[in-house]
Amino acid sequence: MYRTHNCGELRLSEQDKEVILSGWVQRLRDKGGMVWIDLRDRYGITQLVFEEGSTTPELLTMAKSVGREYVLKVSGKVVERYAKNPKMPTGDIEIVVAKLEILNKSEVPPFMIEDDTDGGEDLRMKYRYLDIRRNPVREALALRHKMLQETRKYLSSKEFMEVETPMLIKSTPEGARDFVVPSRMNPGEFYALPQSPQTFKQLLMVGGIDKYFQLVKCFRDEDLRADRQPEFTQIDCEMSFVDIEDIQKAFEGLVKYLFKEVKGIDINEIPIMSYAEALQQYGSDKPDTRFEMKFVELNDVAQGKGFNVFDSAELVVGICADGAAGYSRKQLDALTDFVKMPQVGAKGLVYIKYLPDGQAGNEDGSFKSSVDKFYSQEDLQSIAIKFNAKAGDLMLLLSGEQDVTRSALNELRLKMGAELGLMDPDTFNVLWVVDFPLLEWDEDSKRFHAMHHPFTSPKKEDLALLDTDPAKVRANAYDMVVNGVEIGGGSIRIHDRDTQSLMFKHLGFTEEEAKAQFGFLLKAFEYGAPPHGGIAFGFDRICALFGGADSIRDYIAFPKNNSGRDVMIDSPSPIAEEQLDELQLRLKLED
Ligand code: ASP
Repeated sequence: MYRTHNCGELRLSEQDKEVILSGWVQRLRDKGGMVWIDLRDRYGITQLVFEEGSTTPELLTMAKSVGREYVLKVSGKVVERYAKNPKMPTGDIEIVVAKLEILNKSEVPPFMIEDDTDGGEDLRMKYRYLDIRRNPVREALALRHKMLQETRKYLSSKEFMEVETPMLIKSTPEGARDFVVPSRMNPGEFYALPQSPQTFKQLLMVGGIDKYFQLVKCFRDEDLRADRQPEFTQIDCEMSFVDIEDIQKAFEGLVKYLFKEVKGIDINEIPIMSYAEALQQYGSDKPDTRFEMKFVELNDVAQGKGFNVFDSAELVVGICADGAAGYSRKQLDALTDFVKMPQVGAKGLVYIKYLPDGQAGNEDGSFKSSVDKFYSQEDLQSIAIKFNAKAGDLMLLLSGEQDVTRSALNELRLKMGAELGLMDPDTFNVLWVVDFPLLEWDEDSKRFHAMHHPFTSPKKEDLALLDTDPAKVRANAYDMVVNGVEIGGGSIRIHDRDTQSLMFKHLGFTEEEAKAQFGFLLKAFEYGAPPHGGIAFGFDRICALFGGADSIRDYIAFPKNNSGRDVMIDSPSPIAEEQLDELQLRLKLED
């Protein structure tokens, strides 16, 4: 028997009991005649004590010989501690060890197995099994486990049926590159790993399953960032005979349930914002609505005053940071440098300070700006009125081409939100963003792409625009956004063959191409496909959001690094010549 108890459960009530514990050595303190060892397992830490006099010399010597992360089995008696540790759940007791067995030795670990470790990310990923011994990683995995269980529980209770769909499939376009798998039995042919189970879940609706969900791995070969992994998990869902409101209701239910069960937070009414409104007010289709700082368009008041940069701009737009007029020259320069970074994309930044009373900057004026040369106090006043600004505020203005300027101002708004402490990590603002465009123009391929995916239905009232002004057609699509993070998205689907064929045509597929790639779906639509729609949530992202982390990696047991590598198992890696032969493949690598 390895243990009667785990390392986290003994209390004073077990005093004088003979117990057996097994676990890892967290630390050892050797005071000559006395040795303490902290023994750790998943459940906690228990202090072991070896003392000259009551412990045999052999046992004391053996205790002194163990190192960090050795695996021990001990038997002994639970006693009350002299010096209690109120920070540890087991801090009132210790075990006077009578017998010690070293179950396994350990090399000195390459980093400290502590909450605050000295190990960098690369090292921790290489030895992820050691990293997993640390509390924060184990807690992240435990959170994930809870989320998985609660999601299943909730959706099952609402009659959603979990159905597994295949991993070896044919390409499903979700806007990324496919990972492909060669087929030995069909030389020269390849499976694609699913970017999502999109077409299968629609086929399940044709199959009459009515309400489907799956906690499913998806694979997308795209450049990685902190919130992206080549393989990730979705809560994938689909329902029949629904419109947008039905879907919103069903999944608001799920999200509210998860917030309540896992975080103890009540989410009230979830507001709905149109894509157009989101872009106009926040410059982003996933606005962080924990703080206002909405965009204010200023063409009418800022143009025509002789400042050429503004006069020649398609859009002059700004934000007002409450109480930030005290920003120093240095801080403003830093903001200017920020907006000029290539990934932000603005050419420059104009500021207007609405000075607090008694701090007039120019003569008697209340305003001090970087464009005082062109704008009188009255001009600046009329801009301030647009912002509804008050003394003590800082107005920040950008100008240029519409899309670039809005997107740069979005970055600046988020930066200001962070600098001014407006992004409270304990506040969760859930939001629906709706009415996305159906299509978006791709400059590289010079054609329209589906903004969501090709199975999303257009709004009926916009259908006529498909031929005349395709960019104006809105989709029956929706995203769920929390604190500026898109946690899920979906749409009401096309369910008739003709509209689906029309859609493929608009996406530049010939009839033959559409048939070759999606013939199975078009065929299924000929056999009584019900109206249907669905959504998929990025499960890893929701876990990171609930755990208060930026990176989804923390919530994945064995994640890949930014180059898509698993540095622990060293993958991807070359395969043997014989494997290539079996697959009838030859490599032709370019330098
Ligand atoms: N398949 C979509 C995605 O992965 C979600 C959906 O439309 O349900 O984004």
